[in-house]
Amino acid sequence: MKKGIHPDYKEATVTCACGNTFKTGSVKEDLKVEICSACHPFFTGKQKLSDHGGRIEKFNSRYKRNK
Ligand SMILES: [Zn+2]
Repeated sequence: MKKGIHPDYKEATVTCACGNTFKTGSVKEDLKVEICSACHPFFTGKQKLSDHGGRIEKFNSRYKRNK
């Protein structure tokens, strides 16, 4: 790597909307994210974030009715 053209790469504290914080490497010291490995449906097995207002339930009931 050339010196002088790369920004400082330091440890950053990432704060998620769910309250979880974790460390990562970044050129910024503080990062804010809306989703992390602690609250992402893929990792939690829940779908709480993608089911706002019961839209999935509505879709499922409609689908069953038309079947
Ligand atoms: Zn989170």
